[in-house]
Amino acid sequence: MGKSVADQQKSGFSDDHVRFMALHAALIAAQALTEPGISGSERLAMLERAHGIMLALRGPTHAVGFAEFRGLVRGPVSGLLPPGRSPGGLERVHAIDPETGERLVDLESLEGEFRHVARLSGKAPPWPWLREELAENKAFELFRKGNDQAAYEQRRGFVIRHAAGTLASLRAMPGELSDLYGEVPMERIYDRWCFPCPLCRWPMSVRATGDVVRVLCDDRGHRERGAEYLFKRDDDKEGPPDLVQVHRGVAVPARARPLAPAAGQARAQEAAKTRMVGHECWRSHVVPGLLELALYDELRTRGATVNLWPGMDSYDLHIAVPLDRVWKVDVKDVALVDPLITSLEGEDGRGKWIVVPDRLRLEEPLLKRKLSRSGWKVCTASKLATEVCRALEVAWP
Ligand SMILES: [Zn+2]
Repeated sequence: MGKSVADQQKSGFSDDHVRFMALHAALIAAQALTEPGISGSERLAMLERAHGIMLALRGPTHAVGFAEFRGLVRGPVSGLLPPGRSPGGLERVHAIDPETGERLVDLESLEGEFRHVARLSGKAPPWPWLREELAENKAFELFRKGNDQAAYEQRRGFVIRHAAGTLASLRAMPGELSDLYGEVPMERIYDRWCFPCPLCRWPMSVRATGDVVRVLCDDRGHRERGAEYLFKRDDDKEGPPDLVQVHRGVAVPARARPLAPAAGQARAQEAAKTRMVGHECWRSHVVPGLLELALYDELRTRGATVNLWPGMDSYDLHIAVPLDRVWKVDVKDVALVDPLITSLEGEDGRGKWIVVPDRLRLEEPLLKRKLSRSGWKVCTASKLATEVCRALEVAWP
């Protein structure tokens, strides 16, 4: 990196790259400030790294000192952006909850969504490390290996149904996928246990405050459907802790229930015998994939012809009913709709549907307004199912 910061600024970061970097810095800083069990020197090194990223993206004109940076990290993430940049939704994101002081559990998901947009924005960023952060994800490459549609479906389907599992349950895994699975990290372990989310099977986050331990899925939609538990710390207990569900989940209208089941009781599993996919794979394949597979299963049993990921993922679902009605569907399950709008606005959406989970139904009008110009049609999953079933002349749900 021979260039000065000012030169790099001139060579131009797009708004998309700047927003991703701000969120990336916020994520590192929030980890440093909230993660128990990291040493003071480690904490300082992480904060300095995050501060460095922020200085780089603001340039010398808008530099801020370390103390001020620590303050900014507790405000909305848009506060890290250089003045004059459009916040793109980051004005509503707090990396650290101002009330509880906890790290936002969706932070990594949001970072992934903004990274995806930055990756799509065309012009490569000037720094090698940032280009690396933006590299295509490994899972897609492994799914596509050998250019075989049937193998693609089998591999991707396996990962969605097994975001994590015991070594025994993963034995049926197509061998080429083994690179995607790793050990359960510390922040998802209590004692020797981890706790798979009943909806996605991925080990939930573990947060201990005093005597109470909270266990919650990283996905907001799964938490809303009940994937959030508590137990009391008991150092003398031999077996796994007994999880108590915090709430039974928000009421889901009958027509959305087959596509968004409620979370039941969660069970502990031995962490040492568990393997899980990484966060990016979970966020970009497993979470939306559960809705893709639910639509696939439910609409097929009602008589529609459904194909998954045609042309090795030209889109997610091809749904056909007699007399030539066809829906080409992309399922988008996101933490924040702003990066989704940015990534789709410039694409030709003619003839295609963007389908969002019903929990995002309040965002449907905004998505329609923003995306109809490029030809996309937008609806919730239960509306799509209702419309397909009407064409089939069968009942939904
Ligand atoms: Zn989950």
